[in-house]
Amino acid sequence: MKYSPIQNYINGKFVAPSTLKTMDVISPLDGNLLSTVPMSAAKDIDDAVKSAKAAFAAWSKTPIKERVQVFFRYKTLLERDLKQLAELCSEENGKTYGESVAEIEKCIELTEFATSLPQLVTGEILEVSKGVECRTEHVPLGVVASIVPFNFPAMVPNWTIPNAIALGNCMIIKPSEKVPLCCGKLAELLKEAGLPDGVFNIVHGDVEIVEAICDHPGIEAVSFVGSTKVAKIVYHRATQNYKRALALGGAKNHLMVLPDAIPGMTAQNVAASMSGCAGQRCMAASAMIGVGNVDSIIDKICEEARKIIPGENLGAVISKESKDRIEQYISEAERDGAKILVDGRNTKVKGKENGTYVGPTVIDYVTPQMSVAKEEIFGPVISIMRTNTVDEALAIENANPYGNAASVFTQNGGMARYIIDRASAGMIGVNVGVPVPREPFSFGGWNESKFGVGDITGKSSIEFWTKLKKSTTKWNAEAGVNWMS
Ligand code: NAD
Repeated sequence: MKYSPIQNYINGKFVAPSTLKTMDVISPLDGNLLSTVPMSAAKDIDDAVKSAKAAFAAWSKTPIKERVQVFFRYKTLLERDLKQLAELCSEENGKTYGESVAEIEKCIELTEFATSLPQLVTGEILEVSKGVECRTEHVPLGVVASIVPFNFPAMVPNWTIPNAIALGNCMIIKPSEKVPLCCGKLAELLKEAGLPDGVFNIVHGDVEIVEAICDHPGIEAVSFVGSTKVAKIVYHRATQNYKRALALGGAKNHLMVLPDAIPGMTAQNVAASMSGCAGQRCMAASAMIGVGNVDSIIDKICEEARKIIPGENLGAVISKESKDRIEQYISEAERDGAKILVDGRNTKVKGKENGTYVGPTVIDYVTPQMSVAKEEIFGPVISIMRTNTVDEALAIENANPYGNAASVFTQNGGMARYIIDRASAGMIGVNVGVPVPREPFSFGGWNESKFGVGDITGKSSIEFWTKLKKSTTKWNAEAGVNWMS
């Protein structure tokens, strides 16, 4: 085992959980055992809430300009330890080192945004009647929780950590049991940056811990990122317990390719979008709709896909179960009459025979009824459908229950605008395969890709992590109209 057994992190210290139950943490790159992760119990959540509650009293009263100083230092520490964090991220998730470097760079950008929060939460003040002022302030909620998935072990935690904490909350994070290592390193960096003990806590585990978070009366808000199935469970359970909740779910992102698209650029974007992070991105292109004759572009997409080599510029998928599930989707599409143009099944990487790799896969002549067209595959697979018109393409895109992202490849600005207006997704790309909004713009999908109001990052997250206090004041006894007293 490469690393010592993982522990929870409560009140500024790594501590043993209250149970002895653990799970193995296996590297998808080569199947090696990295560590074990504790399956904590509800009591551990209770301990974390106590620690966070105690820390909240002082942290929430610390002026925001002082709070963000921690994140200026944290940003520098992320830069200092970028290489180490990126290696850890690759080991536990299976993505390539280059993809992990990009992930840590994104953590730095997210932190940079948090340091700008004092400029964005100034509140409002107005003299509403002579001598009478109304004023609003963004007030922290208290103890908040963040439940995160396996596909971005460092970035998704950093969607929530810097903003929620800079805004004055104390946090408990529940990492994915599949990738629990990065969060421990983030805790060390936050401590080194000067974050007071108890403001940030980690409780590892699975379903029991998620349920304990949703049920605990001391937790005010729950943010969740993961599959739609679990997003629905978490959103329902947390709101039933009268908590504020924002639950981001899965995705099935459609790229619409028009005949006037620039072939080389389009092919590169499609191939990179479907295969980056082994297709395990909630913003990955998963379905492509060719409108009219785009055969030459499809040929180029296959050329690009063949340049993607597992174990070199393509990482592993998270587990054996995941590899089997992805390969079953491909086989089912083949049985149903689709044509496999590039086949990533039965991929082995020399010297890493226990790694879980799926090669890039391009499936053509997919119909909208096939499961590869409808369901989230979460692997390096693109399913190509064909239509005669843009409206038919939009009808397919609109019919899918998700709504994270959609993209169009065209040189026609009017057509691009037509699609932006009609695609049913929260994040739209024009000639961009992975249309992730960069800070300060916020990240969030629509439909079954997100439950709750507002977005998880950027300016929109301020509303989620704070509540508004409205005060009305009058200091001049002579002034104003006493209309309510
Ligand atoms: P997941 O839903 O299986 O797990 C997410 C978290 O929920 C984990 O911490 C896990 O321990 C916990 N969990 C799992 N099953 C649970 C249950 N039955 N009850 C309570 N908690 C449970 O997701 P994953 O496999 O880790 O991540 C991949 C999914 O996340 C994909 O669907 C992907 O699209 C989605 N995702 C979405 C976004 C977004 O922004 N919309 C971003 C990243 C990932």
